[in-house]
Amino acid sequence: MTRRQKKKIKKLCILILFLIVVGVIIFFLIKLLFGGTNSSKDYSDEANAVISAENLEKIYKFDYSKTLENILESKEYNDNYLEDYLKIDFVETDDFADKVNKYLNIGYEASEVNNIFKLSSKNQEKILNLSKQKDFSEYLSFRNFDINNLERYEEYKKENKDEDLQTVVTHVNLNLDKEFYTDTERIENPDEITTLINKFHYVDKDFVPKDLVTLFDSKNGAKLVRVAAEAYEKFIEAAKNDGITLESTTAYRSYSFQNTLYTNYVAEDGQEKADTYSARPGTSEHQLGLAVDLNDPNVSGARLDDKDFKWVKENSYKYGFILRYLEEFVPVTGYMEEPWHIRYLGVDLATKVYKSGLTYDEYYDMYLKEY
Ligand SMILES: [Zn+2]
Repeated sequence: MTRRQKKKIKKLCILILFLIVVGVIIFFLIKLLFGGTNSSKDYSDEANAVISAENLEKIYKFDYSKTLENILESKEYNDNYLEDYLKIDFVETDDFADKVNKYLNIGYEASEVNNIFKLSSKNQEKILNLSKQKDFSEYLSFRNFDINNLERYEEYKKENKDEDLQTVVTHVNLNLDKEFYTDTERIENPDEITTLINKFHYVDKDFVPKDLVTLFDSKNGAKLVRVAAEAYEKFIEAAKNDGITLESTTAYRSYSFQNTLYTNYVAEDGQEKADTYSARPGTSEHQLGLAVDLNDPNVSGARLDDKDFKWVKENSYKYGFILRYLEEFVPVTGYMEEPWHIRYLGVDLATKVYKSGLTYDEYYDMYLKEY
């Protein structure tokens, strides 16, 4: 072989190699552009059976979609929604296909359906009974978002521009966009330690907590639910060890006793004023048997002095109590400051609430209530 021939062969080899590379690139480009696996092998036999029975072979032009497969298997396929199905992410949930169709039917777009599946299951149920809601994507990260309140959030946001969105959601959920004592709700399980009672949540007239026991230091038979009474004793002893003398005045109050108190206050000060310091009957924490009012026998007039208050504020959570009515809480609770009123929640929860710096109302709505 001459040198010239060798050179020719070398050139030819390079050319062939080049063509192979170009060919491969073109092949993948075509695949990328026109997509699709063009095969039935990705879909389950069940889905393929529906595809062939209903002449839906066009589906093979698109990339495999788990959503589409599930909808085919569920016999819920609606040809008008094919493009939407391809954009909706599959979610492991009951009646997925049925829900997808219902949401699309209400008028949601594929991206909105993806957002709906990020909501709590309660919200997903609620949304089925509502007309199409405006964009709620900015609320997705809030655990206590309630789709039923969406319009109220928007209204409240306009009026309260200094509040962040999480606070807006929480405050509207707590009905702070309404007058106190409107649209009140009956508390279903008032015996739970976590029960939230306030100007929007009441207990029945005849509700009496289970297992009330008399406080160890009581002169007038003041009672609390046993677990709270036990914690109370430890709390008072700890105070004593730090040189703070505290005692109980009232703790559990029946509905009728609260009624008498409140009625007298209204007669004295008028309802508007009375509402700032006394609970209407049925809405008092004292009826739950979980709240106790403190007094320092060494202080005349005021029930606690500044030193007592400071100690209570900084230590009560360690024994399972929180200060429920502080000055900074007035806009949420609707009650003036009550440094003497402590509420039992158990050490764990009281610590969390204390460290959050929130009112119990806000804490409850953000972290405990089911949404
Ligand atoms: Zn009280």
